[in-house]
Amino acid sequence: MSKRDYYEVLGVSKDASADEIKKAYRKLARKYHPDVNKSPDAEEKFKEVKEAYDVLSDSQKRANYDQFGHADPGQGFGGGGFGDFGGDFGGFGDIFDMFFGGGGRRRNPNAPQQGADLQYTLEIEFKDAAFGIEKDIEIPREETCDQCHGTGAKPGTQPEECSVCHGTGQQEQIQNTPFGRIVNRRICQNCQGTGKIIREKCSKCHGSGHMKVRSKIHLKIPAGVDDGARLRVAGKGEPGRNGGPPGDLYVLIRVRPHDFFKRDGDDVYCEVPLTFVQAALGDEVEVPTLDGKVKLKIPPGTQTGTYFRIKGKGITRLRGYGRGDQHVQVRVVTPVNMTDKQKELLKEFAEESGESIHGDQESFFDKMKRAFRGD
Ligand SMILES: [Zn+2]
Ligand SMILES: [Zn+2]
Repeated sequence: MSKRDYYEVLGVSKDASADEIKKAYRKLARKYHPDVNKSPDAEEKFKEVKEAYDVLSDSQKRANYDQFGHADPGQGFGGGGFGDFGGDFGGFGDIFDMFFGGGGRRRNPNAPQQGADLQYTLEIEFKDAAFGIEKDIEIPREETCDQCHGTGAKPGTQPEECSVCHGTGQQEQIQNTPFGRIVNRRICQNCQGTGKIIREKCSKCHGSGHMKVRSKIHLKIPAGVDDGARLRVAGKGEPGRNGGPPGDLYVLIRVRPHDFFKRDGDDVYCEVPLTFVQAALGDEVEVPTLDGKVKLKIPPGTQTGTYFRIKGKGITRLRGYGRGDQHVQVRVVTPVNMTDKQKELLKEFAEESGESIHGDQESFFDKMKRAFRGD
């Protein structure tokens, strides 16, 4: 596709001044702007004009173009799009804000606005998660200034309505052009868009109406909360503006892992060591739980890895009643550093056992033998 010469597009001479280029561009941009000009090729023309202007308004790009024409790869043609009309046009940029919806996004500065939400990460112990805990935390947050109650004005005085914008925070200029009526809207320069003028500022917050404080918050962490849970504390976020409601505080719970207990949902898991004598002959062992020790009966002939369930010794159910269970897995520990007497006894034990191993164990050894043979 052959590109038209940029100077031709803008209708200016090769030695046009920056000012002439800008003037020509403004005129053409208004003429071809798709919101003003409804002819089918207006958008194409508008883009062409913008592209020409992007290059010719930049002295570096213009010099490249003068030297190399459209061939210069460094110019990045066509990438500009509509979005990047900068503020260097002064009031002109606002026209485009309006055309492209920017005008509609402008909020009334006096409208109530909800404050921002805050997040705080709190690390708690495993047991505290199981049973719940109350904690005081301190978070840095903004609070409504207690001296001026958020107005920013010295006590006894009130902010005045801005006389320039009459409290709207915006100034509007209406231009009648041959191509239609153009509303030029900008932030009120007199009040910086707040719509208010504070004659005498509050000494505590210097007119902002807010103060940075460390705010103490009492948290009730419910029993059964798990790692990664987020608790919402309504109204403890940043304060709102113009009488809007405050945001919320979210407390992200991190539960420290426990050395002995593991958690899965409302149940806890742990491992308990047994000597092979305890496992073989049976015993009663003490097992720690989240709240004290309990006695657990180990039946004779218990295999390593067997689980025992202790009902109701798990985590308090966050939703619902009661508690989960504790699952105890037993691990049979092979004896080491035996005395000569112990070794003797074990040898005797082995002789007594001979080849006759009973019950499940037989099939277990059979299975292993088959595996060795490769079946
Ligand atoms: Zn104003
Ligand atoms: Zn104040």
